[in-house]
Amino acid sequence: MTKGWTGWIVMAGLLLAVLSMTYLTAPEVRRASFWGEGWQDKPLADRVSVLPADALPSLRDGLSDHHFISQVVPAKNAKYVIQDVQRAIEDMPQEVRDLVKNRLVGIYLVEGLAQSENSDSLGMAFAVQGFWRQHVGTVILIDRNDTDKRANEAMAGMEYVPSRNYRGMAVAPRLARRGENDRVTTLRYVLLHELGHLVDFERDIVSGWFSHDEARADCAFACLSWINPERHRFSRYLNSALSQVQSGNHDDYVRSLPDTFRHLEKSNFPSLYATTMPAEDFAESFAMYVHTVLMRRPWELTLRQNGTIVGELGSCFTDGRCRDKRDYFDRLFADVRR
Ligand SMILES: [Zn+2]
Repeated sequence: MTKGWTGWIVMAGLLLAVLSMTYLTAPEVRRASFWGEGWQDKPLADRVSVLPADALPSLRDGLSDHHFISQVVPAKNAKYVIQDVQRAIEDMPQEVRDLVKNRLVGIYLVEGLAQSENSDSLGMAFAVQGFWRQHVGTVILIDRNDTDKRANEAMAGMEYVPSRNYRGMAVAPRLARRGENDRVTTLRYVLLHELGHLVDFERDIVSGWFSHDEARADCAFACLSWINPERHRFSRYLNSALSQVQSGNHDDYVRSLPDTFRHLEKSNFPSLYATTMPAEDFAESFAMYVHTVLMRRPWELTLRQNGTIVGELGSCFTDGRCRDKRDYFDRLFADVRR
């Protein structure tokens, strides 16, 4: 009997030791204690600031987990950017703010988030854990330089399309309503994408476990595009189109844009970037749903080859391409409103 108890006590001691080791060896910025208490009580607008300098060393550690070659530094002269981020949050529908308010640790402005010289990185999100490895919240980083663009121009970057004529090919992007083609709209869309990651982290919707070949009964959102081989074949094609950009093969990528548009039109992926992985599919879908359905803003790409329209893409949530994903988010937000 006594022996049994000793066994349990030793086991519990070991478990605690393992937990404290994992907690203490995680980069500081990934530990809840680093961000302190009380952030949940602050209005969302008060959670926007320049990245604190003491977060830098461990942030670089934390980011290198994500294969980032990080040159991140706190943003300089960011007062007006902070105000624009605050406006971007104010513009969001109440149900979006309600959905994220208990999990948004903070939004921090940085510079140098891009992985390399020829890629933009507008923002990123990472999860923060408590001692028991429970998900406590999400920190969002916004690159103040890469987001310092009018919305339509920023959209061309997000979708990896040339907005000016490149070898006869040009894409006209439209993310903003007339009179709203400004930085606030850019910041709002980037934030919505990162908040999509927050919702995913909190609810464990697609992150962490997904394998293309292992269908799981409860894979819910990910099953909509990633299990069905008929649909998934589009993602394979599109993803290889995207890897041409990432490997610097821009000419081939641009030449195949009409095909890429045709494949996207037949798929239920909201955007090209959504085809890279289920977690990005979710974040892109979240942003586009809020932007085009809840806020009734445009999302359009018009592809011209030598002046003739050869492809057009709209929001899959309003043109019927991703009806299943629309149902998913209709239900998610109906729950928030209840
Ligand atoms: Zn993302």
